[in-house]
Order: sequence, then structure tokens, then C-alpha cells
Amino acid sequence: MTERMSLSLAQADPVVADAIDKETFRQHEGLEMIASENFVSEAVLEAAGSIFTNKYAEGYPGRRYYGGCEYADVVENLARDRARQLFNAEHVNVQPHSGSQANAAAYSAVLKAGDTILGLDLAHGGHLTHGHKLSFSGKLYRTTFYHVRRDTEQIDYDEMEATALREKPNVLIGGGSAYPRLWDFARMRQIADKVGATFVFDMAHIAGLVAGGAHPSPVPHAHITTTTTHKTLRGPRSGMILCGPALAAAVDKAVFPGQQGGPLVHIVAAKAVAFGEALRPEFRTYAAQVVANAKVLGQGLADAGYRIISGGTDNHLLLVDVFQKGILGSEAELALGKAGITVNKNSIPWDTNPPLKPSGIRVGTPALTTRGMKEPEMRLIAAWIVKALDQRNDDEGLEKIRGEVAELAEQFPLYAWRRAPAPVEA
Ligand SMILES: *Cc1c(COP(=O)(O)O)cnc(C)c1O
Repeated sequence: MTERMSLSLAQADPVVADAIDKETFRQHEGLEMIASENFVSEAVLEAAGSIFTNKYAEGYPGRRYYGGCEYADVVENLARDRARQLFNAEHVNVQPHSGSQANAAAYSAVLKAGDTILGLDLAHGGHLTHGHKLSFSGKLYRTTFYHVRRDTEQIDYDEMEATALREKPNVLIGGGSAYPRLWDFARMRQIADKVGATFVFDMAHIAGLVAGGAHPSPVPHAHITTTTTHKTLRGPRSGMILCGPALAAAVDKAVFPGQQGGPLVHIVAAKAVAFGEALRPEFRTYAAQVVANAKVLGQGLADAGYRIISGGTDNHLLLVDVFQKGILGSEAELALGKAGITVNKNSIPWDTNPPLKPSGIRVGTPALTTRGMKEPEMRLIAAWIVKALDQRNDDEGLEKIRGEVAELAEQFPLYAWRRAPAPVEA
């Protein structure tokens, strides 16, 4: 091995090492409330950073196109077995690189170009990959959408059914990235069966709640279930597909060689570790706490007069209408950022404002719950959010909240040993 190959990152590339140090500190000192984010364990991090990144393993365990895959097979088999157990699924493909790749593979397993997808409108909480015209899904397939009702701000299943009967979709897809309520999986399956569509459910946001028993499972109802592994499920940044035996071969072929080349074996290893963690009883406690925290946070904001979209939450996220208080979502995101609270601006259903200056913010509890925060912290944070929004034009006031936020964060340490400045040797 050349001498350069054995240098630490700080020695070999101090600029990148410094950015990582600063990002570690950023993650530690603020309150991460982006609903799609979480903090993986040291064990998951170690597997994700492992030497499996060097390995090509095209194919599947026991039938690879490369030699030397015996240990790659160990980790992929573990990831598959654990995922099957976790979600009570008959077949699992753990190779999709991301949630979007999982959806692309799921579609291509059952659709041909020009076929029709029926999904939740992005503006009502759906996802780009559910048919948006800027996504591959909207370019390759004909797409049509269902919506939430104006009065309840919950999915309008009657509209979904009427649209399905009219448009005859080949795939009916459920799931979204900004929908705070439970889904009626049985009704969706009924609608799909009525028109002969494949029912795909994308549980990217709620997978960890499903795994932890804090949310009903789509797996018994859907022909194909897709997911990310890095949101509530608290694994590495990646994707996964679950299905029954009838579609197993089509799904596997769609992932490789259909959509991807070699799997990211280091990430597959990290998925195995994360699924192992999710199978432990502590993860059930975690999932229940995520939901309990979201409810308390929502109550705190509602008590201060904020309108919570759909009147509350059943899961890990809240959509808050800040425009009703005369604040744009973009202004709220900026002010909360200055106060050390990271959220994202978000359209609300039937929004009258444009996507970059929408009426709402999306707030989630998975990451803070991983840090160990519970109901008392949620009450404190709701009060800070209200105060920061009141003082959104007062940088000094926001800075003061940021100090209080940092003090709270300090009591819930994150990757403690990584915060020590990396020793730089001459
Ligand atoms: C996050 C998300 C995805 C995409 O995941 P990536 O890993 O970012 O590609 C797909 N579907 C839904 C519902 C999501 O929330």
C-alpha cells in the first residue's frame, strides 16, 4: 500500500475533514425537525463507512456475476431475512440505492412506457416519483392524481375511486412525504382490484413506525411496498422493495439489471445492522415515542393558535398553516433556522401561495426522539417555535432562542466522541 493510501482523512484532505467536523457540530447543536431525517447509530455509521464499498457484487446472494462475494452474501442475506421478519413480507429486495430508485424499479416491474399511474398530488402531500411531470415517473408514464378533501384535508377516497374508474390506471400508488394521517390500505386495495391495477404503497416516511408497531402496515394489502430506509426506519440513506412471491422475480429483475448495476454492499451491510436494531424491543418504544412527541408538539402549536392541517397527526409529522398568521412558510423556515430549529417550508393542500413561498411548514419528530427527547422537551420546543415566529424579524431575539436551543441540545448528546477536534499530525 502506498503511503498516501494510509493517511487519515484529516491528513489526506483537511478541507473535506473540516466540512465533516462542522456538519457534525451543526447536527449536534441544533434541533433537527425535518420530518424525513434521522440520526443513525454508531454501528450503522461504521457499517456504512466499511470496506464493503470496495466490492462489486452484481446479482443476488448465491448467484453473483463476480467472485469473492461470500461476505457480501452474508450481509445481503442478513438484511433480507431481517427485513422479511420486520415487515412480515414474503420477498424483499434490499438493493435499491434510494427511495426513488425503489419506485422506479417497482413501476418497471409491472408497467411499460405510456401506462398510467394514479398517485397523490405532490401539492397535497404526495411525492415527485408518484407521477410529477419533472420526475422520470411523469415522463415515462401517463399520470393522474387524487387529492385530499377541502373540508377534512384527508385523502378523498371517493374521488380516488371515481378517478380510477375513469382513468383505468395500471398502478395505484399510495404514500407521500407530507401526509400526517393514517391511510385506508384496504379501501385502496379494493379500488385497485376494481380496475385491475397493481396497488403499490410507498411507505418511505412511515416505515419505522410500521416496523415499530406504531402505525398499521401496508404490506398485507399492497402488491408491492416500497420504502426508503433512512427516515423513521433510522437506517442508512437507501431504499428497499417488499412484495409477494408472484412479483418477486419481476421486482428483482427490475432492480438489477433493470435499473442498477452493482449494489452498494457497504450500505446493504448498514441496512442489515439497522434492521437488526429495529427488531429489538427498544425500537417499538422509540416508534411510539415519535408519534407521542408529534401529538404533543402539535397540541402546543394549536394552543398558540396555529392551524394544524387536518386538525392533528397520526404519525411523525405535522403540517402547520403559518400563513393564517400572516407568515409565509419560507419566512418561517428562515426565522426558525436562525433560532437553531431546522424545518422545511411546505405547500399545504389547496395552497394559494407558490411552492417556493408556500403557506406552511412541515415539522417532524423522528430525529429529536432518537436523541432521547420526550413530551417535556416537545412543549419547550413548541414554545420556542411560537416565540421565534413572533420575533421573526428580530435577529437578536432569534439568536437568544438559538442559545437556549443549544443548551437543550447539549443535554442530549449526539455522536459525542466525534465532536472532539480530529488530531492533525504533521
Ligand atoms: C423520501 C421519499 C422518496 C424518495 O427517497 P429518496 O431516497 O430521496 O430517493 C420516495 N417516496 C416518498 C414517499 C418519500 O417520502
